[in-house]
Amino acid sequence: MSETVFSKIIRGELPSFRVYEDEKVLAFLDIHPVSRGHTLVIPKNTETRNIFDIPAEDWLAVTRVVHTLARAIEKAVDADGVNIMMNNRETAGQVVDHPHIHIIPRFKGDGLTLWKHGTYKESEAIDVQEKIRRSLTE
Ligand code: AMP
Repeated sequence: MSETVFSKIIRGELPSFRVYEDEKVLAFLDIHPVSRGHTLVIPKNTETRNIFDIPAEDWLAVTRVVHTLARAIEKAVDADGVNIMMNNRETAGQVVDHPHIHIIPRFKGDGLTLWKHGTYKESEAIDVQEKIRRSLTE
């Protein structure tokens, strides 16, 4: 059981600006938006924390809603694109221990930069490739 601020939002004990809701999924405006229309999409199941323990059934329900909302949000706020993001574990920037996907509208010239890209030596890329492929079958 992961009791978080989002559990309270699901139960209606904390206010939120809900934009979509069904039996399994809730979507509401982020209280500290990166941009206008920044929305969080979460499973109503309060038993899990992030991508590592969310059941596939909840993940599929959430991502189906993300797929629909991305288009609706882009249109609603007249954005020029959206970023779909998810932080998993503290090191990756996760603050609230309840799975949530961010939909962040982007606007031409908004100046937001997300990642600094690096490079691989070929041997490093092969090493990482092999480790990931092996990990999939362990
Ligand atoms: P993360 O860093 O991925 O865990 O994101 C957590 C997000 O939850 C942040 O963007 C917060 O602004 C947002 N947040 C925290 N509390 C609330 C709340 N009561 N209502 C809406 N969004 C919230």
